[in-house]
Amino acid sequence: MKIVQYPHPALRHPCKPLSAIDKDVHLHAGRMLELMVEAQGLGLAAPQVALPYQMFVLNFPALKAEAEPKEPPGPECVFINPVILEKKGGTVEGEEGCLSFPGLYQKVRRAKTVVVQAYNLKGEAVEVTASDLASRLWQHEVDHLHGILFIDKMGPIARLASRSALKDFERDFRRAQERGEIPPDDVLKKEFPPL
Ligand SMILES: [Zn+2]
Repeated sequence: MKIVQYPHPALRHPCKPLSAIDKDVHLHAGRMLELMVEAQGLGLAAPQVALPYQMFVLNFPALKAEAEPKEPPGPECVFINPVILEKKGGTVEGEEGCLSFPGLYQKVRRAKTVVVQAYNLKGEAVEVTASDLASRLWQHEVDHLHGILFIDKMGPIARLASRSALKDFERDFRRAQERGEIPPDDVLKKEFPPL
């Protein structure tokens, strides 16, 4: 398992809800937590590791204040079949990045507060109210599960400022395909049909 980068079609492929939480799901969740920590990310969604189902991990320990002890993120940071129930408090603009776009940070407008429902790895429903950075994270990761990326949420200025970085990602992706490190488009399109 590894993190795929834009423009990998897995990032645009809508994810199915999980109907059972089996051993594979536990294994995938554990590996996703490790990858997120290695990459020093705040969140990682299943399509970012080319898994087409609705699950993501959030790095809650990284959100803690400097002085607080930081345990590695555990099973409590895994969320399955999440739904945003409510957005409130207006919107706020803040800087956002994504592990599938390394080095690209731009301002994105998001709801200040969200009420979210998801299942944990034990299959229990959890409801969370998150604000500010945590709210931004939830919205960013839920978007991933529907094939929506933060570049889609940028305003016109951020979009313009990202253009050359996106071209570079696209060029690097083609080169990796030419080297045979990533399968060709026709193979990828069969595996990850777009929306
Ligand atoms: Zn992301």
